Amino acid sequence: MHAVFDGHNDVLLRLWRREKAGGDVVAEFMEGTQQGHIDLPRARAGGLVGGLCAIYVPSGDLALKRPDAAGHYVTPLAAPLEREPSLDTALEMAAIALRLERAGGWRLCRSGDDIHEALGEEKFAAVLHMEGCEAIGPDLAALEVFYAAGLRSLGPVWSRNNIFGHGTPFAFPMSPDTGPGLTQAGRELVKACNRLGILIDLSHITERGFWDIAELSDQPLVASHSNPHALVPVARNLTDRQLDAIRERNGLVGLNFAVTMLRADGRENAGTPLSDLVRHIDYLVDKVGIDGVALGSDFDGALIPREIGSAAGLQNLVMALQDAGYGGAELAKLCRENWLRVLRSAWHEG
Ligand code: ZN
Repeated sequence: MHAVFDGHNDVLLRLWRREKAGGDVVAEFMEGTQQGHIDLPRARAGGLVGGLCAIYVPSGDLALKRPDAAGHYVTPLAAPLEREPSLDTALEMAAIALRLERAGGWRLCRSGDDIHEALGEEKFAAVLHMEGCEAIGPDLAALEVFYAAGLRSLGPVWSRNNIFGHGTPFAFPMSPDTGPGLTQAGRELVKACNRLGILIDLSHITERGFWDIAELSDQPLVASHSNPHALVPVARNLTDRQLDAIRERNGLVGLNFAVTMLRADGRENAGTPLSDLVRHIDYLVDKVGIDGVALGSDFDGALIPREIGSAAGLQNLVMALQDAGYGGAELAKLCRENWLRVLRSAWHEG
């Protein structure tokens, strides 16, 4: 079994929804259910030892994309959110993360040593991430408080515009160059993340925003859950130029398991074979290098291939990578070491 540290999941969103429906989410996570993709028993079964767990405020009004006869679709950006209800939701998700830590369900990791120790203790190593910063105001006061609560990674925007910047829509085929990038408040947010040691995630932001952050940030360039645009031209994927920049800046790309971002036809089809994921890894390794490719499953946030199914099926992908020729140190880099390296770098630990 190869231990996997994964760059993006939405388990907190799933648990938050369960809590709203009256569920005891600490018990459900620790004892396991067959809902969604991640809980402790399934993480153990699949070798998922930790990952970035997103605080994400859902958009209630997001209209579903409807592919035309050619399979093309454009989902307009979701409407911007108000800050106060977003802050309430973000606090509720952070509270679930903190309660899980107190109950021993996982360790909320604030440093590379925390992750290292969690893995040694066989505790799930959770890193708190914020996917879209609607909960944070332009004074960045909430950023300081979330940092104190354990926040160590954020994407300024989800596929939605906010005071910090502009997001890419869910659209196929479409270039990621869909609009403006960072606002002035977004530039201040990036500087604050550099100062505090919070990883800045480039997934979901427009190509313009990507270049704005590349210019302003001193961190490795990291897209936690995106795939190569050359293989699947959805607006959420990364162009070759972006991949080149990630390589130059010692960053990484986490492979997203969302089938719409893996399939050449862009379709919502769980019958997507593991060979499609391997094809993306091969392409990314060729463009970014073996030190710049990792996993960013989007567990609990997307339709994923049936052959993985949930965290419990993660070793099926690991075996497919082994069959494709990845072994030893290379496999360790893809499965966890690259993530640990970029997190330490963004956190000013070397
Ligand atoms: Zn996402």
